[in-house]
Amino acid sequence: MSARLLLRSAFRATTTFRAAMAPSMSRTMAAGGIPTDEEQATGLEKVIMTAAKTGADPYNLMRPKEYAGSKADPHMVPSITDKRIVGCVCEEDNTAVVWFWLHQGEPQRCPSCGAHYQLVAHELPH
Ligand SMILES: [Zn+2]
Repeated sequence: MSARLLLRSAFRATTTFRAAMAPSMSRTMAAGGIPTDEEQATGLEKVIMTAAKTGADPYNLMRPKEYAGSKADPHMVPSITDKRIVGCVCEEDNTAVVWFWLHQGEPQRCPSCGAHYQLVAHELPH
């Protein structure tokens, strides 16, 4: 009985030591492992990943920033031209959307609720 206990404790000590001494596995290509998403990204995906690291959002993938909608803090609407169609859900429970053209220049008001919107120039990265 005591020999069996001694053998079991010796086996545990050996396996624990081996696990502690094993080198940590790496997933990088340099170590011969599986490449990460950043290592194998190309083209537009790589542009988006690089921009995300700097905090930029060139394709509006992130959740839009919220504005008060007042004259002092209008909703900013990015556009690559000098006008854009805007849909305003005037109240939270509305089922209809009020659509109107937003032009470059001064902030405009929604014809239904009066929330302010302003067009800001936006350039696509390519
Ligand atoms: Zn509205």
